Amino acid sequence: MANKLHVAVIGVGYLGRFHALIYSRMPDVALVGVVDPNAERARSVAAEAGCTAFTRAEALPGRLDAVSIVTPTGSHLEVAAPFLRRGIHVLLEKPIAATREEGEEIVRLAEGSGAILQIGHLERFNAGVMALAQRISSPRYLEAQRMGEFTGRATDVDVVADLMIHDIDIILSLMNAPIRRVAAIGTPVLTEHIDIANARLEFADGAVANVVASRVSDKKIRHIRAFQPSGYLSLDFVAQTIEIAYPEETRGAERPGIARERIAVESVKPLDRELEAFVHCVRTSRPPLVDGRVGLAALNVALEVQSGIRAGIGPG
Ligand code: NAD
Repeated sequence: MANKLHVAVIGVGYLGRFHALIYSRMPDVALVGVVDPNAERARSVAAEAGCTAFTRAEALPGRLDAVSIVTPTGSHLEVAAPFLRRGIHVLLEKPIAATREEGEEIVRLAEGSGAILQIGHLERFNAGVMALAQRISSPRYLEAQRMGEFTGRATDVDVVADLMIHDIDIILSLMNAPIRRVAAIGTPVLTEHIDIANARLEFADGAVANVVASRVSDKKIRHIRAFQPSGYLSLDFVAQTIEIAYPEETRGAERPGIARERIAVESVKPLDRELEAFVHCVRTSRPPLVDGRVGLAALNVALEVQSGIRAGIGPG
């Protein structure tokens, strides 16, 4: 394709490598380089993805339309700022930043230059979540469970910023009112940060969400359950199935029975879909599904959960 989008990936550790490989397979994208201060890592990912390795972003070629930034969360503002100032479109991994102030500055820079800013809340591109979102209209209660084995990754942040923020973002997208109150509890187990956490989010319309995240469990469990006046829905992310139960009138019966359905969700790779959506937004100048303000809203709730947990643990 003549008019290819010129893209680079900044930070090619565990997740950035996948960004680079996916861009390298897109017919309408020219992956012009990967950047990582770890020269050996940059070289090996560049060799795999068929592009040039750089150890500094300043060395990238002049023509650059968009970047994925996949560096540790604490570096997001510093790494993203020069691109956003130049109007280069950015797909920034989640969470948007480590602090509210840094997140707000990132949004301000994007809005100032008009650059598209998409935050990597990958689960919005999970086919099961998309199918669930189509069926949830007026949730009264949501329950999200995300438990996994200890991987040793992302130990610079706690389980709230690492895992729970995915469900916080999904919940904010499904609920119909702003948050009124947050209560949370959690504890460190294997790292110096919180490894297992529970939060109760109360919304202004009276709806409630209960969220549990653990990175020290013995098996992988990923569930969202919801009830609303029209019925009960349950998404199993691992099995990629949705179970639905709803009242059904039976002729002659005193009261309705409960009908049950199990829906298998088409298997898609969420990261491929997320990057395709970003490229589409850049090409069409459409606003992304998960823009900077959406990422900031999820961060703000995550910060409230973290401060609730700290208050519960106390100074000792
Ligand atoms: P990682 O430690 O494996 O990789 C980070 C890489 O960034 C390293 O190779 C490091 O050398 C490089 N780096 C550090 N500072 C840099 C800089 N200034 N410029 C360029 N490169 C730099 O971490 P990871 O697990 O790949 O996570 C990276 C980001 O992705 C984090 O923000 C994390 O929260 C996010 N993440 C998101 C998901 C998801 O599901 N969306 C999953 C995993 C990680």
